[in-house]
Parts: sequence; structure tokens; C-alpha cells
Amino acid sequence: MLIDTHCHLDYLPLSPRLPEILMSASSSGIDRFIVPGVEPQSWERIISLSRKDERIFAAPGVHPMHADRWNSEAAEFLQRLVPEIVAVGEIGLDYLDGMPPRELQQAVFRAQLKIAKGAGLPVIIHCRKAFADLLRILLEESAGPVQGVMHAFSGSVEIARECIARGLKIGVAGPVTWNNAVKPVKVVQEIPLHHLLLETDSPDIPPEPHRGEVNEPAFLVEIARKVAEIKGITVEEVAGVSTESAKALFSRQSAR
Ligand SMILES: [Zn+2]
Repeated sequence: MLIDTHCHLDYLPLSPRLPEILMSASSSGIDRFIVPGVEPQSWERIISLSRKDERIFAAPGVHPMHADRWNSEAAEFLQRLVPEIVAVGEIGLDYLDGMPPRELQQAVFRAQLKIAKGAGLPVIIHCRKAFADLLRILLEESAGPVQGVMHAFSGSVEIARECIARGLKIGVAGPVTWNNAVKPVKVVQEIPLHHLLLETDSPDIPPEPHRGEVNEPAFLVEIARKVAEIKGITVEEVAGVSTESAKALFSRQSAR
């Protein structure tokens, strides 16, 4: 059994084909799905998916690219959702060109970290080209370890180790399977399996041999296979360990 720890099932073009997509995932052995939010308008959708299907778990949050949609109303809304969610996500920093101002992203990230911490919930972190600021903010906002995952981790082995030292798991997504992959392969090589979580980030970043297609949770097996190949172990071992880590992190799901 595998858990897709990051898939946007509420998004086009996945949402209209959801029954078919879940069926195909289930025949590939993927039968739990963590669905992060990206902005308040999407939260209703992911909550209603999680209410309708016990395999789906909601992780609402405001993505750094939507930092300007965070306000006191969103904070109250998120707080109200706490009893039925498994994490706050996806939150973080994205310093690619065209993203909201860094100061705004940082403030919105801090506010959501506080809510997650107060609620005892883990965080799903999105970080691009902002690792130094991210690690500094995590340190400032939390004296102890931070429960969470660095989703679709794109950094180096050294940064992965720093994240793990802060308590975080490392999310492995499609890029590890790509023919030109270097950094993600090194990360999987060097980081012990029990620190890794598997995710598709569907409908984006499909793994080989599905590049150019719409990504979907069934393709998670390609990522599990690649991790097994890199580590020289069986897919069953990868599935067993990563599923246990995912259950432990998003523990409210195993209670259900
Ligand atoms: Zn995502």
C-alpha cells in the first residue's frame, strides 16, 4: 500500500475524472491521498472531498504564490477547519520571478506556522530558491522540532540534512525519475529511507514514462520504483517504510 502525500485532486483536469482516477490509483496500490490547499477558495472543495471519501485527507493552507489572499478572515476559516484536517499546507516561500513580495510571503508563512503549531498539526512546505530564509524562519518560529514535510524537495543533500535536523521529512516527487535528474537522485541516495515521503504533486510534474501527460496518483508507483532502484532495495520495502512514515506524520488519518 502507498499513500500519495501530495496530490491536487480538486484541480482541473483531475477533478471531473475523479472516480476513474481513484480507481486506477487503487489498482496500482495507492489508496490514501493527502490533498493540500492553495488558497481559501479551494478549501471548501478539498474539505468536501475528504467528507465524501474516507481515503482522502485535507491539508488546507495558502500557497506562497497566493500570499495576497491571506487575511484575518482566512486565518479564522483555517482555524475553524482544524478538527477535520491532517495538516496545514501547502505553505512556504517561493522566490521565483513573478511571485508576491518576499516580506509578504514570509509573514503569511509565519502566521500559518503559528496556527499549525497551536493546533498540533504538521505542515506541508513548498520551497523554491528560498531555503536559507525558510530554515531561519522555522528556527525563529519553533524552538523544538517542526512536524512536516518539504514537498517535492528540490534542494541539495546538505539542505535536506538541515531540514531533517529541524524535524522535517523530505518529499520525493516525479523529478527523481527524469532522465536528466541529478540532485533528487543524490538526495534519495544519501538520505535514509525513513526520512522520505512519496508524492506525485499531480496534476503537475509527471514521472517517467508519463512526461507530457497529466500526472495522477497512479503514477506514484514509478516514483516508488525509482527510489527502490536507487537504494538497491525492493519496492515493497520502499512502500512499507514510506507508508509508515506518512501515517505517523499525518497521524489523524490512521485514527480514521
Ligand atoms: Zn502542490
